[in-house]
Amino acid sequence: MVDARGAEDVAAVLVARVSRYGELAATFGYATLDRVEDAMQAAMRHALRPIDAVHRIGEGAFAILLPGLKAGNLAALAAVRLAAALEQPFEANGRRVLAGITIGIAIAPEHGTDPDVLCRNAERACVEAARQVDRFAFYTPTADALTLSDADLRMAIALGHLDLALQPIYAIDSGRIAGAEALARWQYGGVAIPPSRFVQLAEQSGSIGALTHWSLNTTLRHAAAAQLRNPALFFAVNISPHVLRQPDFVEQVLGALSIWGVAGAGLELEVTESSLMEDPSHSARVLSRLREHGIRIAIDDFGTGYSSFAYLRQLPATELKIDISFISALSRDERVAKVVRSMIAVAHQLDMLVIAEGVEDAATLERLREMRCDLVQGHHMGMPVPAADFVADLAAPV
Ligand code: C2E
Ligand code: MG
Ligand code: MG
Repeated sequence: MVDARGAEDVAAVLVARVSRYGELAATFGYATLDRVEDAMQAAMRHALRPIDAVHRIGEGAFAILLPGLKAGNLAALAAVRLAAALEQPFEANGRRVLAGITIGIAIAPEHGTDPDVLCRNAERACVEAARQVDRFAFYTPTADALTLSDADLRMAIALGHLDLALQPIYAIDSGRIAGAEALARWQYGGVAIPPSRFVQLAEQSGSIGALTHWSLNTTLRHAAAAQLRNPALFFAVNISPHVLRQPDFVEQVLGALSIWGVAGAGLELEVTESSLMEDPSHSARVLSRLREHGIRIAIDDFGTGYSSFAYLRQLPATELKIDISFISALSRDERVAKVVRSMIAVAHQLDMLVIAEGVEDAATLERLREMRCDLVQGHHMGMPVPAADFVADLAAPV
């Protein structure tokens, strides 16, 4: 809604929880408390504007909707009014009950637009409010302040709330697009959660299998659409070490390829150097089976895992992906440049292609070209974009 001054209205969702509900229930019993809550609800309605709504959402919990606010901080005023309205004791079943409340506040659109997200953010703020003297708190939308749980992540995966970004990978010689890396994105409670954080959560809690299944299938779905326009494109999916150890991993991958009608050569699996080192002979066996189906294998973050080139030789990998830390230092540190040059030379000796990730400027691109690097990826050439945009704009028609 926009008013005559052009200012846009905001709305607020408040979650109010009866403080020390368990103690009150033990003292007065649920039947009495239930009637007290009815009285509290009526008192809260009375303290607010006619357009505001107060709902009971559970034992000792209320959700309050304040639409059409001129500013988000007006919700604090409402919270103070609510608390004041509940300062009196309420009578029920002949008992007098004094029950305080704790209020968490989330503002739309600042803290989310989806009612469910707003309610959850208000709940989070309510937890914070319990620590505050004035018993109310606004939601703070910083990723660090968010307590992420595995349940949130599983839910996001199941409900399709994750997004897939594709970052283009270019052939350095022709300058043509060769493929893309799939990168998961999670927008939660109005905040973009860094992939490193939710991937780690998934790895620790066991939902990494579900995340990988999602990445693989979502990537291949877009790959199938993109390949209608450019059949030569390949799509790289990141695979965590734990997933590589799953006994049916190869079958899972082959199943997904056949569902989406994508050939093995259209898929690349990125496995980090350090994860391959955990169990080299098992890794080699799994990767060999994948290679039999034409699937490309890239060793991701190469240079960070202290593996020897002798060991590399035993792995059936097709690509070496040099870690961003080397690439970003390349054009200002001659020693790093020398290391990169020798990584490229050895990879070529082992018949691997080399991808440089994190190319951020023209000078680095030029150095890599001169060093005969094969493929490049980075902000200088292209940012990760929503997968549908990649298919529409970057997968050039043949
Ligand atoms: P990664 O596989 O090494 O991915 C490359 C990271 O570098 C991405 O970070 C990408 O956005 C970033 N990047 C690309 N070009 C540039 C550049 O020019 N400059 C800088 N500074 N960064 C650049 P992102 O998207 O934050 O992902 C971080 C990590 O999270 C990935 O590292 C990967 O290990 C993991 N990850 C992301 N999506 C998935 C997924 O679907 N499954 C699994 N298992 N892991 C994933
Ligand atoms: Mg990667
Ligand atoms: Mg990497």
